[in-house]
Amino acid sequence: MNSAEPQSKTLEMRIDPSRATTLNSNLSTILSRMQSVSAQRSVRLVAVSKLKPVNDILALHHGPHNHLHFGENYQQELLQKSLLLPREIRWHFIGALQTNKCKPLAEQIPNLWCVESVDTSKKADQLEKGRAALIEKEKEYEGIPLRVFVQVNTSGEEEKSGVEPGDAAALCKYVKEQCPHLKLQGLMTIGAIARSKATKEGQENEDFICLREVRDRVAQELGIEKEELELSMGMSEDFESAIMCGSNQVRVGSTIFGQRPAKKDARLKEEVEDGQT
Ligand SMILES: *Cc1c(COP(=O)(O)O)cnc(C)c1O
Repeated sequence: MNSAEPQSKTLEMRIDPSRATTLNSNLSTILSRMQSVSAQRSVRLVAVSKLKPVNDILALHHGPHNHLHFGENYQQELLQKSLLLPREIRWHFIGALQTNKCKPLAEQIPNLWCVESVDTSKKADQLEKGRAALIEKEKEYEGIPLRVFVQVNTSGEEEKSGVEPGDAAALCKYVKEQCPHLKLQGLMTIGAIARSKATKEGQENEDFICLREVRDRVAQELGIEKEELELSMGMSEDFESAIMCGSNQVRVGSTIFGQRPAKKDARLKEEVEDGQT
């Protein structure tokens, strides 16, 4: 992979100034709302950019906050975006993982900062192989592990991926002991959106409580401090209550970027007319 290439493509990319203003002001609003509930703890914001064009990502990355953390759900889309955008961006893969696609995901994207949706030891193994293969080719990544979150199905909904709460410790242990090129960063949940909407102000969301309890139990079983394991929970609708329940990382999409298009209508790159930069 030619590392000079994405940079030159970036320079050609035009950003609509009024769109950039809107996006950066949305980002500022989220950051201050986060701050007002986080009681001095630092909480990471992952801007979920799935189905949104690379111009939007660049507008935030080159904006006043120099935002670094972006989340994507679809593997092909992430790969294409990573080739067009600067290497300092820290990509989070937060979508459903297929076991046979895990190795290429970890191998092809050097600035993949973490994978948040690990729910089987087979997937962990394939990510491990992919990261090892990447390091073979790009020696500057030697000693830098790929972070992973174990996804937990806290809501018990059949269609949601994630391990059962009771199986989280075993998978965490597996990653920690069997995957030297991975780093266990913490636990992630999506939770039931309906439940989030039903939770009244001042009431705690059951999914967030559950993930926190799973984290405490996992830390105990692994013999580590619970602070060593982060909680990735909270999205547009519920990030403030997630932070109040102890979240270390929220994943916010539509409140920053607006409603997402249907997958078939999504465009990788927005053409912006000349003279608008
Ligand atoms: C899409 C998505 C988000 C962001 O959702 P919004 O409601 O748009 O903030 C967060 N986490 C995961 C896993 C997602 O798939």
